[in-house]
Amino acid sequence: MILAALMILGILATPLDAMQRRFTFAELGKDTGTLSVGEPTIAGARVTVNGVDAARPGTPFTFDWGDGSASRGFFPGQHVYADTSRNYTVTVTAHYGDRTDARSVQVSFVKPTFTYRRDPGIPKRVRVAVRPVPLATTMPGYRPPTDLLGFDDSGLAVPRDALEYALDVGHAIQMDLCNGDVDTSGGLDQVVLNQPSFGGAFSLWFTRPVAMGANPGYLSNIAGLSSLYHEMGHNITLNSPACYRFGGKTDGPMNTIVSEALAQIMQHATAWLILNHPDRYGLGPALAEGLERSATRAFEGMARSHRDYVAQGCPFATRQQPGSKQDRTFGTFMTVAFVFVEGADRAGDLRGATKRLMRLLQTFSAEDHRRYQIPENDAFRATFMVAAISHGLQRDMRPRFRELRFPIDDAVYAEMMARVRQ
Ligand SMILES: [Zn+2]
Repeated sequence: MILAALMILGILATPLDAMQRRFTFAELGKDTGTLSVGEPTIAGARVTVNGVDAARPGTPFTFDWGDGSASRGFFPGQHVYADTSRNYTVTVTAHYGDRTDARSVQVSFVKPTFTYRRDPGIPKRVRVAVRPVPLATTMPGYRPPTDLLGFDDSGLAVPRDALEYALDVGHAIQMDLCNGDVDTSGGLDQVVLNQPSFGGAFSLWFTRPVAMGANPGYLSNIAGLSSLYHEMGHNITLNSPACYRFGGKTDGPMNTIVSEALAQIMQHATAWLILNHPDRYGLGPALAEGLERSATRAFEGMARSHRDYVAQGCPFATRQQPGSKQDRTFGTFMTVAFVFVEGADRAGDLRGATKRLMRLLQTFSAEDHRRYQIPENDAFRATFMVAAISHGLQRDMRPRFRELRFPIDDAVYAEMMARVRQ
């Protein structure tokens, strides 16, 4: 009887699941071990696979190159393929005494075709620069770099028009997530510029046009797409709210609990919305698959950083140590973003939750700014963000964040929540 009922449920559940495929980060948050393997670099037939294992095993890793050959050694692993007319799956295995762990990555010699169907409702906003673009400043005291270049077509993993469309979709989504409450003195357009001398990507939220700089590595592999949504997230949230933009106030050394957390949240919410509605946004299978890989990897990194924060006894920090190169706020802002994204994902509504989170943060005023900048006012900075997350998730998140050793001020919490109470 029970068996028969289960079988019927099983049969009924299958077509529903197939119809409503839901993308979720939920399964990715669990501890997946210490081994992480990056996207392979391809130069001709030579492939380099880099990675890191926080457990630092003394036994060399095994690299199974997917073409019938294997080798042993430490990172980076290198292999030259005889046949580059097809793709391969590389599996790296770590050996820890009597236990092993493995990760697989794809080597794509054959580029997929990145199809898309432009939704006429998505405005054309983002350009991947062909040549340098002059940048003016919209914020006194901030000067844009002058050495940024354009990108050659040959350096782009995704053809320029398809990449620009994927970024246009992100722009439309993020403007909506920010409730349209964005200062547009830099205009609505954004441009991506090339910074080969710097390893990372960065936001130029204070320029006209608004811009981001990125090492060419971010565009030579589709895995960089989620990071471009991250910089776009800085660009839009630092220019919000329209009447008192965060930028210039919270992007200094104490910024991270707001601005880095928000860039992480925008990055994940954008990918989540696209991957849950691929047909609505018109991104073809290769773009969606690449974005999924990219966003999944970013989420795993965020979950790992949160676990490290807990394992280290929750070293809460919203300020950098003067003179130190180490970012001591990293675990704190990753924890803020992780708790929010995980909670909103479980509730199945990253859009509504992010719009509410932003609504509370967009009450930021000159008086808040004064309190925010007082160095010892960790409690204000923590509570401002915890109130926004609580409003976003529609749940009092103070107990959870107190466990994570956030210094929360109940009076500030009540004040913040009163601003958004209907
Ligand atoms: Zn950032």
